[in-house]
Amino acid sequence: MGDKRPMTSTLNVGARSSAVTQLQQQLAKLGHYKAKVDGDYGPVTKKAVASFEKKAGLKADGVADGKTRDALAKAAKPSVPSLKVGSSGPKVKALQQHLKTLGFYKSTVDGSYGPVTKAAVQAFEKKHGWTPDGIAGSRVQETAEKEAKAKPKPSWQTVKAPPSDYRVVSFRGVKVNVRTRVMVERAESYMKAMGLSSKLSITQGSFSNGVSASAGTHDGGGALDISIRGYSAANADKIVKAMRMAGFAAWRRGVNDTFSPHIHAIAIGDKRATQVAKNQVTEYFRGGDGLVGSKRDIHLTATGHNIGRPVPNWAK
Ligand SMILES: [Zn+2]
Repeated sequence: MGDKRPMTSTLNVGARSSAVTQLQQQLAKLGHYKAKVDGDYGPVTKKAVASFEKKAGLKADGVADGKTRDALAKAAKPSVPSLKVGSSGPKVKALQQHLKTLGFYKSTVDGSYGPVTKAAVQAFEKKHGWTPDGIAGSRVQETAEKEAKAKPKPSWQTVKAPPSDYRVVSFRGVKVNVRTRVMVERAESYMKAMGLSSKLSITQGSFSNGVSASAGTHDGGGALDISIRGYSAANADKIVKAMRMAGFAAWRRGVNDTFSPHIHAIAIGDKRATQVAKNQVTEYFRGGDGLVGSKRDIHLTATGHNIGRPVPNWAK
């Protein structure tokens, strides 16, 4: 009343137009319409309109009159600006992070929307059966966030830190502290989940002074040598991975060095570890092999032993 703007026209069953297409898209966005967007106002569209009207507190007659259409347009209006190639900033960063968590984005989370981000958005859109235009509107941004947050984190990441129990115990014929023992047990549970036999064979423990080949790394707490006899190279690498997931700085020896094949490991954060062992942990986080000369960690390079460096949250 008194409004000079032209009223939005009424759409009803039988209408076929781009306005109906837009109506269906808006209804679909709000979850009222799940059929094909075809611009054809049939009984399914009518039902969807009625569903929206009911929710909006309007007369639920399934007729899209001006009032209904205006309310629908308002409700379906994007609440967040669309992101596209050229966009940058924290919203892009968040989107990249979520798409990375979901496995669609594999590049650096840098907050800059380039062709790689576009391709990731397109793959995400395709997976949901949406038009893969590579533009991240509110639906893409919100769905990616929701799914990324709902994705259960593997328990090895969120597991509590091992107890600060430094009592030395006898374990599988060697000496370790209780903290290290707990970590070994965790590693074995991850090995089991990987389908490996779940008992580590420990050839050297901690507090074992005087083994010259170990350069003092085993003189204090947190140190272990594991036999990989009988394991294939791939499975030996998996053991390293399980130990890393449990919070050890662990490397397979005998690949790119002069040691006989075994796994050498230092429990990250062990307060009784010797300084040389602590230095190895520092080297581990630098991507090194922890040996004199500081070569690159073979498990981070593309030599076939690449298992990455999974570190549980407590050890970061
Ligand atoms: Zn060792």
